[in-house]
Amino acid sequence: MTSHLDDASMAADDERASDADAAWQGDVRAGVRQVRDLDSLPLSPAERAAAQVAATRHKVRIPKAYLDLIDWSDPADPIRAQVIPSPEELAEQEGELDDPIADHAFSPVPRLTHRHADRVLLFATYQCAVYCRFCFRKESLTSIGRGFSREALEPAFAYIEAHPEIREVILTGGDPLSLPDKALAEIRARIEAVAHVRLLRIHTRVPVALPSRVTSGLVRSLQGRLMVTVVTHFNHAREITPATEEACRALRQGGFVLLNQSVLLKGVNDTVEVLEELCRELMYRLGVKPYYLHHGDLARGMTHRRTTIAEGRALVSALRARLSGICNPVYVLDLPDGGGKVPLGPCHVEAQDGETWRIRGQDGELRTYTELVGDP
Ligand SMILES: *Cc1c(COP(=O)(O)O)cnc(C)c1O
Ligand code: SF4
Repeated sequence: MTSHLDDASMAADDERASDADAAWQGDVRAGVRQVRDLDSLPLSPAERAAAQVAATRHKVRIPKAYLDLIDWSDPADPIRAQVIPSPEELAEQEGELDDPIADHAFSPVPRLTHRHADRVLLFATYQCAVYCRFCFRKESLTSIGRGFSREALEPAFAYIEAHPEIREVILTGGDPLSLPDKALAEIRARIEAVAHVRLLRIHTRVPVALPSRVTSGLVRSLQGRLMVTVVTHFNHAREITPATEEACRALRQGGFVLLNQSVLLKGVNDTVEVLEELCRELMYRLGVKPYYLHHGDLARGMTHRRTTIAEGRALVSALRARLSGICNPVYVLDLPDGGGKVPLGPCHVEAQDGETWRIRGQDGELRTYTELVGDP
């Protein structure tokens, strides 16, 4: 038995699967793996019709653990909205983009994006454990679609070696934790052999959508010389379950720093109550620090999921007043032309006049603050 998601395009892994591996493999097999598996789900006729077309634009995959979180009696269920193709997806709009955050424009070698001097994105695989309808990389996942191969990553490793300013390597994709343990260990070992790299970051939805995949073998494959940060992607408190709690505990006990990034999605998490519960449970129950809340980007067919920036700013202002400092994410927009992620608020500074600032307090009152500094 093989222990990876896509037999066709991944390096063979012929080790006998352990019980722990059998558990997550069963979870993958019992889930939605292709569009015709949707036939067994109670979809609306419109969803059924849309699914055929939508699946040609962005793959469909939903592990059983994630599928089981859907409340089918609610057509607007926030878990359903993230993974079931919807008719609205087919209505692409002028201005939507194939590459919303300019990954390709800043890619000096295949499978690597270098936009900020000290850190690079490494696309270890273009496959995921779950395919999210709102994904900003869905065009690459559909058009490139490939898994891990040693040869494909060689130019990226050589680039990292040749650039001493790189301190952080961010494994993304696709979902790096959809790779076999052996491939992860190999990638990790290759990166930690580069003396100037200090930190390995993993961007993943596996702890959310396929928590059984977080086995002791997976944790071990990432342990080595480097500081490791795992950035999860929870969007709703309903995704926090005993299984995701167990996965996050294993990662924390493995010695990894856990952060979360969410995408602000209309109909999924665009109320202050939903975001408040999500951020609080992430920190207090999972030990995962809310890092970023991303404004919905210009991925194709996602008009129905985008909020306005003004709505997003009002939400994070309310969060700031309700949640402790460590529970608050930073609300960011990833600029389409490669301008990077910029914070959108809240901003409490209203005006400056010399050394006098007008600043709004947490209580909403405008105050004056006068700076006192020594002579230059
Ligand atoms: C998001 C991103 C990073 C990481 O940014 P942080 O603000 O450090 O989390 C790095 N490089 C690229 C190209 C990115 O899009
Ligand atoms: S897991 Fe991440 S990369 Fe994969 S489809 Fe979802 S958002 Fe996109």
